[in-house]
Amino acid sequence: PGATHETDVIVVGAGPCGLFNVFELGLLDLKTHLVDILDRPGGQCAELYPEKPIYDIPALPVVTGQELTDRLIEQIAPFDPVFHLSQMAVALEKRADDRWQLTTDAGTVLIAPVVVISAGGGSFQPKKPPIPGIEAYEDQSVFYAVRKMEAFRDKRLVIAGGGDSALDWTLNLLPVAKSVTLIHRRPEFRAAPDSVNKMLARVEAGEMEFRVGQIAGLEGGDGQLTGVRLRSDTGEDVLEADALLAFYGLTMKLGPVAEFGLNLHENLIPVDTEKFETSTSGIFAVGDINWYPGKLKLILSGFHEAALMAQAAFRICRPDAKLRFQYTTSSSELQKRLGVK
Ligand code: FAD
Repeated sequence: PGATHETDVIVVGAGPCGLFNVFELGLLDLKTHLVDILDRPGGQCAELYPEKPIYDIPALPVVTGQELTDRLIEQIAPFDPVFHLSQMAVALEKRADDRWQLTTDAGTVLIAPVVVISAGGGSFQPKKPPIPGIEAYEDQSVFYAVRKMEAFRDKRLVIAGGGDSALDWTLNLLPVAKSVTLIHRRPEFRAAPDSVNKMLARVEAGEMEFRVGQIAGLEGGDGQLTGVRLRSDTGEDVLEADALLAFYGLTMKLGPVAEFGLNLHENLIPVDTEKFETSTSGIFAVGDINWYPGKLKLILSGFHEAALMAQAAFRICRPDAKLRFQYTTSSSELQKRLGVK
């Protein structure tokens, strides 16, 4: 975070289509940096349905959302993509040298002649708990994501939620924080049973607390939390806390991409079907976020779009080079890029 990087192509969104851009660009020897607000790649596949089987990926009769993500990561590994995760792409500007400059909310600056928007159904954004006055504490002592575990060292933490994020961060932060209290409105969890069992074992061992109840309010001032008011069957009490981490799930919203100055059509980005370029030269859109006559929001559509986008991106990034059509089966040049031995 905070650093400036120059590259060939910036990809906004690391969903399945964002990832496959890297492959098609890599075959043409173009380097890619990707940005995603999620803390891991995979977009909807990894976030919304990691364990659900997909049946319409060509040549994979059945593959889960997470497996597809893992296989894409393996396939693009030879091209060394650089991921900027847990970061929202917030601004896109044209530079005096005709390249694009993308800035994230963590202060990372990416500079490239080509940008591909693969923002899918939009950016995943946290659902906020309905607690009056919570805004005053956000980003100072109330958080909806963990960017750096160190920020919570020796803090008294209250973690709220019953899904995988809440349980995973409870277990991960336990060795770092001074104390951890997990709260959830009921004793049943949506999280993986294995994480739930691990958490309950930590409670049993006296290393942390688990409380059933709802957050009734926050105590503190100037953005610094001192306590979380918990309403339970037995009444209301205050849990002393330096920080609250609330994991109430995610919703998809178009988000900052709407401010990039691109033409939009019902929150989608219209593109041509020759290059999948937007109405702004040098900016492409691939995957669920784009729109053209006949568009189907399927993963395989995005894969095809990525291949054509890459041809056009090459012409922009390497205006003096000749583009040759080659098969991976027979081209030793492509096989070298792929690291085939
Ligand atoms: P996404 O997967 O939506 O990823 C976009 C990423 O961009 C997200 O991670 C988001 O956080 C990020 N992002 C957006 N804006 C920003 C920003 N400003 N800054 C940082 N990050 C940003 N498709 C099929 O083909 N077959 C199926 O069987 C199938 N089953 C499905 C089942 C379910 C339950 C769902 C929900 C979808 C299913 N789909 C299926 C659809 C498929 O998941 C989508 O077509 C696919 O995920 C689109 O990929 P994408 O890369 O375009 O976008």
